[in-house]
Amino acid sequence: MRQIRHIAGILAGMAILVGAPSFAQDADLSPEIAATTDQLIADALLDEVGLQFVEDLTTEVGARLGGSPDEARARVWAMNALKELNFDRTRVEDFTIPYWARTRESARVIGANAQDLVITALGGSRATPEGGLEADIVRFETLSDLKAADADSLAGKIAFIDERMYKTQDGSGYGLAVRKRGGCANAAAEKGAVACLIRSVGTQPHRMPHTGGMFREGALGALPAAALSGPDADQLTRLLDRGPVRVNLDIGVEYADAAPSGNVIAEVEGSDLEDEIILIGCHLDSWDLGTGALDDGAGCGIVVGAAKLIADLPEKPRRTIRVVLYGSEEVGLFGANAYARQHGDDLDKHMLAAESDFGAGRIWRFQTNFGEAAISYADVMKQVLTPLGVSEGDNAAGGGPDIGVLRRAGVPVVTPAQDGRDYFDYHHTPDDTFDKIDPEAFRQNVAVYAAFTYIAAQTGWDFRKSEPTSMGSD
Ligand SMILES: [Zn+2]
Repeated sequence: MRQIRHIAGILAGMAILVGAPSFAQDADLSPEIAATTDQLIADALLDEVGLQFVEDLTTEVGARLGGSPDEARARVWAMNALKELNFDRTRVEDFTIPYWARTRESARVIGANAQDLVITALGGSRATPEGGLEADIVRFETLSDLKAADADSLAGKIAFIDERMYKTQDGSGYGLAVRKRGGCANAAAEKGAVACLIRSVGTQPHRMPHTGGMFREGALGALPAAALSGPDADQLTRLLDRGPVRVNLDIGVEYADAAPSGNVIAEVEGSDLEDEIILIGCHLDSWDLGTGALDDGAGCGIVVGAAKLIADLPEKPRRTIRVVLYGSEEVGLFGANAYARQHGDDLDKHMLAAESDFGAGRIWRFQTNFGEAAISYADVMKQVLTPLGVSEGDNAAGGGPDIGVLRRAGVPVVTPAQDGRDYFDYHHTPDDTFDKIDPEAFRQNVAVYAAFTYIAAQTGWDFRKSEPTSMGSD
């Protein structure tokens, strides 16, 4: 199996190389940097290290819920793997988080049309009494409709938000759809409800609900809250068309105010500009239902694979490349905020940051967020990436969830945007598993990351708008 994949990878790499032998030679780079960039891209298209990293992580550790013993095992695993790959200064930067985990979850329509509904609790859901709570369902088309309901109109009832999410290449449907996941419990509690159900934030038609976080202070949100699979949301709506529906909702949880988590960090030490950092990141934690292959094992494999290619060059890059595997992203960006606290003093040394956290689909667009004086550098990167099928994006890159705090503090970021049309078919479900990764698309990601990371490290270009001064947090 491994042999077959290896040969397939070589063939895929050759096909691209035969068609386009040179990526960087025509760009405004020194001949040495251009030649090395071309070599990195060629090697990345045959990458085995990054893909093996994801396979091993998702096979040997599996799910890695933030703050859980599984996530702790993932940190040990990642430290060993990165040391074996000979990275420099491999370490864990510890922090603690409020911990939450599900222990049981079920829902059942009771009465004349009695039947089970397929649900999964949202991160931060409160427990119901043992054996469940029983209440009538009140359906809303949108979160806004729920917020507009009369005060106390949901006393003793379960709010159900049926808002749908639609597929888009850039994942923009998620930002809209996710608001109901975050806000349902708070809004429902304000109207007197005892629990909240949502249609899953996802784009697939299977009887498989998507979990995800909800607004909470500390470990718990306002109410018991769960997501229905798409077909179950449809079923519940049809039942409501026929008359009042009463549901028994049974959710068990365990939680703690402080549980251990951490960011795993490894570096490729720079040479004459060693103090200056090019940060490429991902998050090591995952939700508990799948094995976190697309979200975000793939991202970790992509940045590790790219950094390893640069580490193996005959000469060190000028700037240091810092690979950050953030902890506890899913449960509230705790790793990102811990990094901000722990590195606030050397913020001005962060010359560029990027994060891979959108699965393993091909990169189709490259956005930057640079100062005006650095736009020509963005143009060079885009020119180098064009033969990889990457179109030119604007200069309004967001970066990604874990590096948002860096961007807001003035660190230049890039967004190598992945094709996300299938991402929300698997995201936060039991189906987020290794087989969903297309090796060829994955290797294209490694090539893109290796190319722009190396160019940023080796040219010494300044991408900043101005000197960053303070690191905020969010
Ligand atoms: Zn993620």
